[in-house]
Amino acid sequence: MHSAPFTVAIDGPAAAGKGTISRAIAEHFGFAHLDTGLLYRAVGALALEGANPIEAAQALQPEALEGGRLRTAEVAQAASRVAAIPEVRSALLEFQREFARRPGGAVLDGRDICTVICPDADVQLFVTASAETRAERRWRELSAKGDDRTLEQVLDDVRIRDTRDSERDAAPMRPAEGAQIVDTSEMSIEEAIATAISYVERRKGFDRN
Ligand code: C5P
Repeated sequence: MHSAPFTVAIDGPAAAGKGTISRAIAEHFGFAHLDTGLLYRAVGALALEGANPIEAAQALQPEALEGGRLRTAEVAQAASRVAAIPEVRSALLEFQREFARRPGGAVLDGRDICTVICPDADVQLFVTASAETRAERRWRELSAKGDDRTLEQVLDDVRIRDTRDSERDAAPMRPAEGAQIVDTSEMSIEEAIATAISYVERRKGFDRN
């Protein structure tokens, strides 16, 4: 059915709901999904083990994207540090662009998907929420997994990453000009997903006409 490429690009800060929304769009429309944060997390994890981040990004293998360790707060901070290195970003660029062009449709989520990786994406969304709301969501997730960090510590982490990601020179996080802003602060997960799906539906309908 969907043989032509159709790209949904989603940016936004940590814990705004990008991942949940991206997975729901992918499932609803039968698109492939790439969580681009995992690429930076994998490079960050290798850097923590002593690797040179640029060489690690240039030689990144699919196996490096697996493993629960990539989801830790320590790796998240390392990811945001290596993500500020322009050579790391350029080493990961072509893989992401190719993924976006795959036949059958693709959803990519990250920080620079609409602004740098897929500026011509069919649908561009910037999913956001207040820092407090995001920290609380992340804290609940972490607590459920037995992590004993306090809400204040999680809020600090969120703020440090927000600042580093939006103030860096290389592909800073910001809403693309044509992106629809989806603020999930006051939305349930179901509402956020329905809102995002409606933007994709609208664009797909437009493409058919
Ligand atoms: O989305 P996630 O929290 O997994 O991303 C980890 C880090 O990777 C972010 O804080 C950001 O610094 C970096 N990142 C990026 N560009 C992307 C995706 C993630 O710079 N497209």
